[in-house]
Amino acid sequence: MSRPTGSHGSTSPAGSMGSTGTAGLAGAREAAAEAAVPPGSPMAARVVDAAKVYGTGDAEVRALDGVTAGFPAGRFTAIMGPSGSGKSTLMHCAAGLDTLTSGTAYIGGTALGELNDRQLTLLRRERIGFVFQSFNLVPTLTVAENITLPIDLAGRRPDTAWVDALIDVVGLGERLLHRPSELSGGQQQRVAVARALAGRPDVVFADEPTGNLDSRSGGEVLDLLGRAVREMGRTVVMVTHDPGAAAHADEVVFLADGRLVDRMAAPTAERVLDRMKAFDGRQPSRPGDGRHGSAGGSAS
Ligand code: ADP
Repeated sequence: MSRPTGSHGSTSPAGSMGSTGTAGLAGAREAAAEAAVPPGSPMAARVVDAAKVYGTGDAEVRALDGVTAGFPAGRFTAIMGPSGSGKSTLMHCAAGLDTLTSGTAYIGGTALGELNDRQLTLLRRERIGFVFQSFNLVPTLTVAENITLPIDLAGRRPDTAWVDALIDVVGLGERLLHRPSELSGGQQQRVAVARALAGRPDVVFADEPTGNLDSRSGGEVLDLLGRAVREMGRTVVMVTHDPGAAAHADEVVFLADGRLVDRMAAPTAERVLDRMKAFDGRQPSRPGDGRHGSAGGSAS
């Protein structure tokens, strides 16, 4: 696997929300999507001509096939698409957890392909927060220690007022000395959200954050991510295949077969579900059916 080419390194980091576009993309829909993000808005993260190829020969899979997409600062963006459409690959490459085969990923103005491994580790630690489906808390640490872990690892002093405010927002003040195993799944994921936000990262990437949760806990986690954006000025990019979860975002970008095929501003679960139905008859879970921890019905 080669490193990113960096061939787009001179592109403005504050470039417009790009799209590979889809033939026949309705003009009205495009206008609505454009209106959602003022021209010249800074991008917290973006990828340009992103391609990711796994395997070779007959086993070759183009998980990303020329995706150009920006994730605006101060916004909540959902990446949506059928299983296997490349959502996780896009998130992992945009977040510096994996490298592109070609094209360029940026965090702010920093081209990730130009960083060595140490610089990439530092960038992930200092500028990115992560929330995973499986919570990934450290079982031997308390809730409080888990929340400040990224700051401690970075050798920084926690901003106590900010961390206290976060603890307040996630509603786990009574549980600070508990271990993760003493918490419900929803509580653990709320700790994971607080941990992701504790160092005030440029962007939080969440990979199916409600995938292991019942609909109520999932709804609480999605509300929390929304508040982080709307009340705390953070940036969230969330991968989901759940229309109800996507409806919590300001905007949804749709992937199909490794390509960015559409964007939707001010999504509702029903509109997202309708859009998903168009993908080759492949069906996502219905919003609110609880199969994937959908918080769906609450948002439509
Ligand atoms: P999604 O998150 O939308 O379900 P993924 O990004 O996980 O999709 O996968 C996109 C495509 O890439 C799929 O066809 C998947 O099988 C393939 N893929 C993902 N990771 C690997 C890997 N490590 N090796 C080979 N193929 C992979």
